[in-house]
Amino acid sequence: MNRPLRCRCGTLKGNVSHPERVNRGVCYCKDCQAYAHFLGKTDDILDEMGGTDVVATLSKYVTFTQGTEALACMSLTENGLLRWYASCCNTPIGNTRRDFKVSFVGLVHTCLGDSSKTLDDCFGPVRMRVNTKSAKGRPESMPLSTITSILRFLTSLIRARLDGSYKCTPFFDSRRGSPVVRPRVLSSGERERVMNAVAARTE
Ligand SMILES: [Zn+2]
Ligand SMILES: [Zn+2]
Repeated sequence: MNRPLRCRCGTLKGNVSHPERVNRGVCYCKDCQAYAHFLGKTDDILDEMGGTDVVATLSKYVTFTQGTEALACMSLTENGLLRWYASCCNTPIGNTRRDFKVSFVGLVHTCLGDSSKTLDDCFGPVRMRVNTKSAKGRPESMPLSTITSILRFLTSLIRARLDGSYKCTPFFDSRRGSPVVRPRVLSSGERERVMNAVAARTE
């Protein structure tokens, strides 16, 4: 069973297989908030506490079917996560590590779901909340389900590493392990601007 993936304007489209194997969580970290500011989409991306709803899955379960020329990549820092988005309409797609052998992608909710179904229907409920210290307010923590979902997900990551299926990814060149799009790393000035915007919003 596949779930649709698309940017807001419909240029970039694809799907996510094995929706039952995902790990859904909300991340409140400052970097995720800064990313939303960078894209100019805080209202679309962040919840009222500054959280980003993320569906973590293995990269091999993500397929793009059209519009990959719109796929862009940025990073807040030289070694930070690679943050993929659709440049046509600044819809965030997902975040990956720089090392493609760690084959996880945290898909941002804005590119998921379809009009007839909620995210809960498509990918099940939120099972973890992370980096709650950076939240605006006090999100309810979910310690037990957070630990069990992380462990379950780590197991699948290790399996993908061992069986070589990490090479199956739409985000990296499978032979060289380099990103399919050159990441744009923010300058220190740009980073300062988005971080200031985060601080102003959390106050
Ligand atoms: Zn678009
Ligand atoms: Zn985060």
